[in-house]
Amino acid sequence: MDRKAGLSSDSEALDDDARRAHQTELLRKTVEVCWESSDFYRGKLEQAGLKPDDIRDIDDLTRIPVTMKKEAMTARAGLGTFPLHEAKRIFVSPGPHFYAAQRRDDPPPVRGQTPLAYAFHAMGFRENDIVLNTFSYHLTPGGFGLEDQLIAMGCAVVPAGPQNTEVQVEILAKLPVTGYVGTPTFLKLPELQERTGAMVRQIYGSADGLYPAYECWAAMGMHLHPDQVIEVLDPETRAPVPAGEPGEVVATVPNPNRPLLRFANADLVVLRDDPCPCGRTGSRIARVAGRADESTKVRGMFVYPDQIAEVMARHPEVQRWQAVVEKNAQGTDDFRVAVELGSEAAGLLDKITQELRDHVRLRADVDAVAPGTIAEGAKRLDDRRSYE
Ligand SMILES: [Zn+2]
Repeated sequence: MDRKAGLSSDSEALDDDARRAHQTELLRKTVEVCWESSDFYRGKLEQAGLKPDDIRDIDDLTRIPVTMKKEAMTARAGLGTFPLHEAKRIFVSPGPHFYAAQRRDDPPPVRGQTPLAYAFHAMGFRENDIVLNTFSYHLTPGGFGLEDQLIAMGCAVVPAGPQNTEVQVEILAKLPVTGYVGTPTFLKLPELQERTGAMVRQIYGSADGLYPAYECWAAMGMHLHPDQVIEVLDPETRAPVPAGEPGEVVATVPNPNRPLLRFANADLVVLRDDPCPCGRTGSRIARVAGRADESTKVRGMFVYPDQIAEVMARHPEVQRWQAVVEKNAQGTDDFRVAVELGSEAAGLLDKITQELRDHVRLRADVDAVAPGTIAEGAKRLDDRRSYE
């Protein structure tokens, strides 16, 4: 079986002129969807004095105001264009905020033509693969989202989720599994590639509704999905950054259920635009360079300092605190929270650990430190991982 050949769509291999025309079409479609069915984005366009007819060309994109992730969460723009009771599944992000990506009555997807199907194809998945899915099926869209799209490209899915490693090893031993999807911290994928000869490729995605960026067999960066418009901008000036320098992802996605119009998701990425031997054109994400705002991703979950602050505010004994994220020797994320206590309270650290687990949905190591250890004005959430 050739796991390298072929493209999912001609749109993956457009030349520069054809890409401009394609992106103009995508932009106009997105503006139309937003104007008709999103109060939030329609309001933004109106505030900027814009009507759909004013957006004629991809160059008009910069006339549209950028929407920040936080702003969209506040305004519930992430909910999409239909009432939640019409949803297929309702997912939960910290807040809690509720959102849905699909309606129950959406027409079935065309085989191989969903946004993630492009990614799976480029990474080497093919029809009739049996795929072990170790993404969580619990509240977040990873498990079901990937499963739906694997099925839509003709694969059989084992809905394993992230737990029960021993059972999963048994499954791998007894079932002719040909594919695996999961987060890099669950299995050490580069090692796996070396040991088993499996083709291991990465995908960049987010629950915000961006279409994925994906590596092909050449593994020279993640191709931006061609059916959306991605800008990489300086977070302060909003000017495009040149390839090789980090900038914030700003996405325009013509999804009628959940459109994004110049949506800044706070991820910093570095682009490269040298040619790729697979024949796909356009820019690729060379690497993810961190977060534009204070929040950061720990073991695949977004953590906002305000969430931790909410827990700490319940305990007047806590005078100062700081959360630190570091990579440990095993390559996974250590999440430590240091607290300075005004008075000792029995069981307080365990209580905070439990509350962080409930509220932030992450296991943290909570330690008491001597008063004065945490500097005045220190970052509340200090991400000390290296992104090189
Ligand atoms: Zn490629």
